[in-house]
Amino acid sequence: MTDSQARQADRPHRLETLPFDNSFARLPQEFHTRLAPWGLPDPHLVIASDEAAALLGLHAGELDRPEFVDALAGNSTLPGSEILSAVYSGHQFGHWAGQLGDGRAHLLGEVRTASGPWEIQLKGAGRTPYSRMGDGRAVLRSSIREFLCSEAMAALGIPTTRALAIVGSSHPVQREERETAAVCARLAPSFVRFGSFEHWAANQRENELRMLADYVIERFYPEARDAANPAAAMLAEVSRRTAAMTARWQAVGFMHGVMNTDNMSILGLTLDYGPFGFMDAFDAGHICNHTDRGGRYSYRNQPHVAHWNLHALGHALMPLIGDEAAMREAIDRNYAEVYNRDFVELMCAKLGLGDAREDDDVLISRLYGLLDANHTDYTLFFRNLGVLPAAPRTPTDDAPVRDLLIDRAACDAWLAEWRARLHSGAPADAERQRAMNAVNPKYVLRNWIAETAIRAARQGDYSELHAVHQCLKKPFDEQPGHQRFAAPPPDWAEGLEVSCSS
Ligand code: AMP
Ligand code: MG
Repeated sequence: MTDSQARQADRPHRLETLPFDNSFARLPQEFHTRLAPWGLPDPHLVIASDEAAALLGLHAGELDRPEFVDALAGNSTLPGSEILSAVYSGHQFGHWAGQLGDGRAHLLGEVRTASGPWEIQLKGAGRTPYSRMGDGRAVLRSSIREFLCSEAMAALGIPTTRALAIVGSSHPVQREERETAAVCARLAPSFVRFGSFEHWAANQRENELRMLADYVIERFYPEARDAANPAAAMLAEVSRRTAAMTARWQAVGFMHGVMNTDNMSILGLTLDYGPFGFMDAFDAGHICNHTDRGGRYSYRNQPHVAHWNLHALGHALMPLIGDEAAMREAIDRNYAEVYNRDFVELMCAKLGLGDAREDDDVLISRLYGLLDANHTDYTLFFRNLGVLPAAPRTPTDDAPVRDLLIDRAACDAWLAEWRARLHSGAPADAERQRAMNAVNPKYVLRNWIAETAIRAARQGDYSELHAVHQCLKKPFDEQPGHQRFAAPPPDWAEGLEVSCSS
């Protein structure tokens, strides 16, 4: 970018002057289908993210314009936008699923901004050539879940696609019951997935495979370009980013729910929010997706599945990498190194221990055993642990944590180990508590909270949705006005189930 282009990109844009530069559209026509979205009848704005709009450099007032709603509903086309749906394939639940593709996603194009390229994609604006049996629609319920979680994950510092806005409509959509249609507009530097590469490998189209690798390397992994084996270098970096993302999921207690290879971002971003969940009562084997009977995507399996998915990507890249051992090495060494390092570092920070030490993994795995045996609320445990003094003065000092566990003796035993570690070198209480509060969120998007916002929104009341969104922007802050969102699931939410239906 030249200086004058950079200055141009810094100035807030009107919708009509968004600087589109659609690099993915310039790939050969085999990669996508140009098309017009069906759009949504009589759309209205449900919610928008100022932060996501700022990433695009959009002027704040733009979100209130009817033109914004029309464009995000897919009812009008912004100048410079070249709308398309992309093809990809993938492994679903461990089995090769063949061709999938953007069955209900329309890429409006890519906006050049001071913070790099951002693609704008509509989810739910109608059928595409890749819709298979689907209706091309998304319901308000699933759009709210995707919107809230994208923005919540970003606020937690976890790599993710972003959500710009939801537009709703009274247009009926049939799922288990009749619901209404909505479109969620998402942002990401790129929506290329592991499955985008698998698609060309499975079809033995080495040319297209190479073109896609060149495209991704050129734009996102430029340092790989000069490596002896650029595809292997890219794979190594994708492995590192995927490991970093997965370690953050595990540390915060996030479960994706459908880690199929078509839902794995080539940029290591959390992508495609469906039946995800945040851990309430801890259970290492917890399955958040009701459709996942076998528990392939349970909490404890996520790090293995991410690694498995990287191997699916690695196999797809074999025609470019050429050497099986180099492919395995690129994944295995990098994934293990970054995952193990980041996970232990994150957990040490959550426990207020400062820099990780040799034996800290023992303390961490004992803690997981304790939480699992007691089904302790995961988020509350860490937040409350921050309150405990390094040296308890009265028996009630430990109540905020002890009260969360049934087995008090086991709790005391673990706390004693934790304190022994604190005494051998950790910051003083006040400083440690501040540091712990900065990494242990008070507020996460628990299913019951999303459900509360959804139920009200389906009655036309978006106030709770807006309150949840505001709250989750500052997940680490004490927010007296939002205290109710820090609570574990109420009784009515015990049996809540989320499935792939969206
Ligand atoms: P998912 O596992 O939800 O990410 O979706 C898997 C595949 O199904 C992707 O190709 C989606 O585009 C497609 N898909 C999911 N729901 C629909 C729908 N309602 N209409 C068309 N395609 C869909
Ligand atoms: Mg998907």
